Amino acid sequence: MLIPEVEPPFPLTWGFSTRLDLPAESPERRLNQVHRCGVAEASDAVVEADGLWTTRPGLRIGVRVADCVPVLLAGTLADGRPWAAALHAGWRGATGHDDPEPGGGILRRGVARYRALGGHPPHLTWAFGPAILACHFEVGEEVIAAARQDPAWREDLRSVGPSGKAHLDLHGFLRAQALDLGLDPSKEGSVALCTMCRPDLLYSYRRGETTDRQWGWIEIS
Ligand SMILES: [Zn+2]
Repeated sequence: MLIPEVEPPFPLTWGFSTRLDLPAESPERRLNQVHRCGVAEASDAVVEADGLWTTRPGLRIGVRVADCVPVLLAGTLADGRPWAAALHAGWRGATGHDDPEPGGGILRRGVARYRALGGHPPHLTWAFGPAILACHFEVGEEVIAAARQDPAWREDLRSVGPSGKAHLDLHGFLRAQALDLGLDPSKEGSVALCTMCRPDLLYSYRRGETTDRQWGWIEIS
């Protein structure tokens, strides 16, 4: 397990699994992930969405990824209860591509849920996990065009790779959104490992591993 390098706001266990972790540690599967922006309250049912949140201690929630970004959020609500979320953010989820809510994207939707429950975004502790990073994330210009719709977009999040095609910095894009949403940069504990660069440790869909995934998960103690 790779653990976010930041002090959690309340007792919890969290992290990003690798090839070396035993499946027994993984959460129960509660999500049918569809590369969109739905964020649901976790229950015992399996729901079609790409993010889960909970206030229930002992409920381990997570997302499965192999190149997309696993996002973990933890913060206290106005009434003092702990709140935790796990989000799956590929380029579609991150940009809100096809999201019926304008200015969407799964991170914006996740933080909006926290606010709706009385949470204060600067109080969130947050971490992005291993994903395909800018060194390897070659994308079509339609992906860049989708990201440019976001108010937090900056042109330096696009670079040009060795083949002359665009690369997107998905961690950087999500970080720009997080800061735009008022999250505190001193409460970030992201683990910036690239799934393509680390075949010893991480599964990568682009490298041809189309079935295995790593988890990003969180559990309120
Ligand atoms: Zn890489």
